[in-house]
Parts: sequence; C-alpha cells; structure tokens
Amino acid sequence: MAGNWKMYKTAAETCAFFHKFNPLVAGSAHCEIVICPPSVNLSAAVEATRGTRIETGGQNMFWEKEGAFTGEISGNMLKALGSKWVLIAHSERRQYFGETNENARKKILAALDSGLTPVYCVGENLDERQTGGTHQVLESQLTGGWAGLSADRFSKIVIAYEPCWAIGTGKVATPEIAAEAHRFIRDQVRKQFGAEPAAACRILYGGSVKPDNIRGLMAQPDIDGALVGGASLDPDSFASIVNF
Ligand code: PEP
Repeated sequence: MAGNWKMYKTAAETCAFFHKFNPLVAGSAHCEIVICPPSVNLSAAVEATRGTRIETGGQNMFWEKEGAFTGEISGNMLKALGSKWVLIAHSERRQYFGETNENARKKILAALDSGLTPVYCVGENLDERQTGGTHQVLESQLTGGWAGLSADRFSKIVIAYEPCWAIGTGKVATPEIAAEAHRFIRDQVRKQFGAEPAAACRILYGGSVKPDNIRGLMAQPDIDGALVGGASLDPDSFASIVNF
C-alpha cells in the first residue's frame, strides 16, 4: 500500500502525520507500507518512520548518477537518504513535465542500478478509454518502459495501473474495469517475461482509492495493492486503507 503525497505537506506536517499514523498501522504486518513525500521532506519521513515497518520513496528521479542537471535528484541520492522506492512516470509527470516512455525506461534502469524498487505508473486518459484505445496505450507504455529488461531485473519492479481519469477526480474505476485492465497488464507481462514473472508481479491500482472503495478493489485477484494520492494525506484514512 503506497501513498503518493504529490506536492503536499511541509517537514513539520510530515512529522505530525507520522506521529498519528505510526501507531495506527503498528500491527499491520500483512503488507508493505510506503509513503512517497516531496523529496525535500524525505529525511524527515525517514527519521519519523525509523524503527517501524513503514518505508519511504521518491516521487521521481533522474537517470544519471550525478552531474550538471539543475533541479534533479538521482537514485543514489534517494537510496542514501534511506528510501527504498521510487515512483516512475506518474501520470502527472507525463501530463505536466513531458515524461515519455523512453525517459521512464532510463529511470527504471537507473533506479534498479541504485537498488531502489521502481513503481512504474501506466494508464490511459479519458479520451483514450472512450475511443477504445486503453489496451494500445497500456501496451505501448509497458513495452516502452521495460524494453531491454531481463526477466530477472523485471522481477524487481512494481507496476501501478492508474487511469488518468480516476486520479484526483473522485471517480474511482469500478472493480470490474480495474480488474480487466490489471488482467490485461498481467497478460502483457506473461507474453514478455513468462508465466512465473507474471504470477509474481505486483500490480497496484491507483485512482481515487478511499477507505470505502478499497475492499471491492482488493477483492479482484489481479489487484495486489494500491497507490493512493489524496487519501494518503490523512493518517486515519490511509491507515484504514492499509488495514481494510
Ligand atoms: C495518485 O496520485 O497516484 C493518485 C492515485 O491520486 P488520487 O488517489 O488522489 O486519485
């Protein structure tokens, strides 16, 4: 269960969140719990989660290890801070910051080289869904992002299916719509890497996940977890998603 805080919360608000959140999930050993705060607050998050099972991740990274790339951060920097995860190609990165499948591919490789677990985000927009293009979009995002990966390296990545029309809109995909897309994604993994990696691959659903819809989504066999935006900002609501 992963929370994407987007561009919300200061360092002080980060500490206040974990002060309330940590005890609420202290008994939750059934899943991994990850929070991805803005990168400037990762240190505060790492500090506030020390000694707990809660892990932290970046929301983005650059593919070079270091250099003259003003404004960017590397996988090694995230790792050195104590983070284990990084979101790659979140739809907001694709929509507002020109993230492409090719950039995502380079970032996935760099994340793996740094020892991070990339969470590769894919998903169609409303127009693509309404014109029947969902499978085509997913296929090109997936094959573009994982191009050149061996099955062994692929086994270290997590995929997040996030239909753009469901992100931050309150319009969650029905469990059936989400299940169909997850099935399609797992079929693509099977085609590319084989049956075992497909069965083992974790595919998260993201898009307006809330405490009152998590149960129906998680009942679908191909949905292995959730990537949660808005509802991860509130400790009670994210804890009830984790503990559903
Ligand atoms: C997200 O930011 O990845 C997300 C799914 O947002 P929300 O849960 O707010 O739709």
